Amino acid sequence: MNTLLLKYIAKWYKVLFIFLFIQGNISAQTIKDSIKINRFCDNVIVLNVEPVQQNNTIAIATNKGIVVIDNNISQSYALLIRNAIIKEFNRDDFAYVINTHCDWDHVGGNQVFKDIPIVAHKNCLDTLKKYKEEGKEKLQADSAWAASSISYYKDILKEMPENSRNYHKYKNAIQRFEIFINDLNSNFEFVPPTIAFTDYLFLDMDNINIFLYYMGNAHRNSDIIIYIPEANLLIIGDLQFDMNISHLRSTGAGFDQKLDIKRWIEILSIILNSNNDIKYIIPGHYNIHNKEWLVRQFDYLKTIWNDIQQAKQNNIPFNEFLEKMCDWNKFSFDESWKLDFEFKLEISELQKRHVELIKLIWEQN
Ligand SMILES: [Zn+2]
Repeated sequence: MNTLLLKYIAKWYKVLFIFLFIQGNISAQTIKDSIKINRFCDNVIVLNVEPVQQNNTIAIATNKGIVVIDNNISQSYALLIRNAIIKEFNRDDFAYVINTHCDWDHVGGNQVFKDIPIVAHKNCLDTLKKYKEEGKEKLQADSAWAASSISYYKDILKEMPENSRNYHKYKNAIQRFEIFINDLNSNFEFVPPTIAFTDYLFLDMDNINIFLYYMGNAHRNSDIIIYIPEANLLIIGDLQFDMNISHLRSTGAGFDQKLDIKRWIEILSIILNSNNDIKYIIPGHYNIHNKEWLVRQFDYLKTIWNDIQQAKQNNIPFNEFLEKMCDWNKFSFDESWKLDFEFKLEISELQKRHVELIKLIWEQN
């Protein structure tokens, strides 16, 4: 781990806990958690409401108003977030909300920001429009899904000692889903984006430029990444987070849709260009990383991609190719890959994912 990151983590732990007065239609007993706010610089903060899943909401105060990126799973959480941003920046001139993709845990709070333009990829708009049409049916299905997750976690907890590492994680997950179900059944509104783009969008915020790029099929079919040069930030949604080699595992699209790896490589090559001074990579969940973390993952993906193209050109059979790609000297997945506080994946697991990823890309191309 390099010193820059260590310094950063040390700073990060000096977090500010704010206990907010619960307002509006949220009952005080529903969310017991505090909001954790990490301040990067005068005008950028990252907010987390709950320990589980640690959704990262980013707020940027610009000359043209506050920009909020992602807003957690449902309205109770989003209201806490909105109030915390107002308190932290001491202003309430929201300009835009951006959805990095169309999963509940990123768009579920849109209704709390429905007075503000909401920006997302067109596929996110289409998905949310569809949910809105499905209406009650969709809400019932998602409530049922959350309820089954709760009983699954409760079963696990029965067998788990209270002092074990994951005990509180599951307890918090149960609480989170209970609030989610409660929210879905309490005047929940589907609020689709009001500004949708297809390839690329630029938001001129006067002192801050915000570049949004569509990544094609990745985690979902609506993933975008957001580059903010003046804040040295790259926000990557759920394209990649702590679970290393998660290109495949965090990918919902991958199993039935062709991953747009060529597009990822093209866009990331431009953004990760050495002239761009990116200091922080903020994923949709968990820890914030430095540029080297993403470059390492990116180089790995490029290697696999290029090797597969070459092998196919040379008519090399898959088994022969795979054997070559399982040279663990070349793909050592050493300690540098284990920057993974939450999951601490074993090397054997990384190797397994490596093989799965190669198989998938081979089959798709
Ligand atoms: Zn997510």
